[in-house]
Amino acid sequence: MNRPITEELRALDAAHHMHPFSDNRQLPKDGVRIITQAKGVMIWDSDGNRYIDGMSSLWNVNIGHGRPEIAEAVAAQFREVEFFNLFYKTSNVPAIRLAEKLAAIAPEGFEHVMFTNGGSESIDTAFRMVRTYWAMQGRPEKFHVIARRNAYHGSTVAGASLGGMTPMHEQGGLPIPGISHIAQPYWWGEGGDMSPDEFGIWAARELAREIDRLGENRIAAFFAEPIQGAGGVIIPPRTYWPEVQRILSEREILFVSDEVICGYGRLGTWFGCEFFGTKPDLMTTAKGLSSGYLPIGAVLVGKRVADVFYGLGGEFNHGFTYSGHPVCCAAALKNIEIIESERLVERVRDHIGPYMKQKWTALADHPLVGEAEMEGLIGAIPLTPDKAARGKWAEVGEVGTICRNHSFQNGLVMRAVGDRMVIAPPLTITEAEVDELVDIARRTLDDTARTLKDKGLI
Ligand SMILES: *Cc1c(COP(=O)(O)O)cnc(C)c1O
Repeated sequence: MNRPITEELRALDAAHHMHPFSDNRQLPKDGVRIITQAKGVMIWDSDGNRYIDGMSSLWNVNIGHGRPEIAEAVAAQFREVEFFNLFYKTSNVPAIRLAEKLAAIAPEGFEHVMFTNGGSESIDTAFRMVRTYWAMQGRPEKFHVIARRNAYHGSTVAGASLGGMTPMHEQGGLPIPGISHIAQPYWWGEGGDMSPDEFGIWAARELAREIDRLGENRIAAFFAEPIQGAGGVIIPPRTYWPEVQRILSEREILFVSDEVICGYGRLGTWFGCEFFGTKPDLMTTAKGLSSGYLPIGAVLVGKRVADVFYGLGGEFNHGFTYSGHPVCCAAALKNIEIIESERLVERVRDHIGPYMKQKWTALADHPLVGEAEMEGLIGAIPLTPDKAARGKWAEVGEVGTICRNHSFQNGLVMRAVGDRMVIAPPLTITEAEVDELVDIARRTLDDTARTLKDKGLI
């Protein structure tokens, strides 16, 4: 591709195309990168620059880019039946096969699946399900939902309300009533003088304290990501999830594990709850379900909730035109088959996950890096002006943005969440590609340090 085409497309993008999570005044000035090719863990822009996709696009392209098997499965389904809905007591073959497959790979007790078109819709579905679950049993007062600060549960009204992102709450009059947010298990940033283990227990008990404050008889559910992704890859202290699970087991409250990022292999287990040993009642999924080839999400419904919806009967007045879209289901089914046949979950657990963890955590010796963490194939490094004191920068996000820009220039897609650099490559990444990724990350940290010196920030 040549430059005139890039310039022309950039101008058209600026003229007509509103981007998600973007400043619509600034973006046209910066100009977008137009991605025109993708294969494996690599992407190319319209100027021919190559990048390692260290983020699996948006944490979702688990099987890597450009797989012809998916293209073939999708084309075949298009030729069979492109679309028919699920509303008229009708079903379709890919939706049935995919539901069966998800029940097979999910932990014991998850036999039912409700399809959506993405993570936010999965969250909205679960949100209505947990309240309806109690209402169906004559307990509509069990209505309140607890989530966590700095959680990300999507961008719809319920998703953004459940999420704990204050900039999202500030737009559109959120959160909606009936939701409260408790502390996140972010030791490096918020642990103070506590040890990580002590802080993990403290953060978990915030849930118990919130339940006691509101009254258990008023609470429908607790929503949480196993590892917060968009919040900056917050890997909880190892004491956190066992204590949360203990608190939940003693109380009559549903637990929704938001598996939109951790689901489908990212942690070297099929689902994040299996990695941490928690026992959810519902799992919200999307992203890795289709590795991004087509939009689809799914709520996996555990026995406790299914027993009420199937046992008591009564209509659940909820669904989307494209729920269980046959072509999206065909893509997802082929994606899961690839994860199985290439043993990608085991690969992350036994081989490439430990390999990358060793390389990535070695970045902790860099003067800008506060700590370096990774589980499965998801990791983070907080950038700090003062390692020993776990210091923060004066203006949150300034240094992260500098680092992110250097990373792009150096050929690596690494995301900045505030001043935390996060990484989540495709599960197919090779050892040589991990080496290259971490080499570029280190060079990027050196470039960032140089820029910070020039600006007088260090
Ligand atoms: C991305 C994400 C969502 C929202 O998914 P969309 O497909 O963008 O609607 C919800 N929860 C988590 C944990 C996510 O990472």
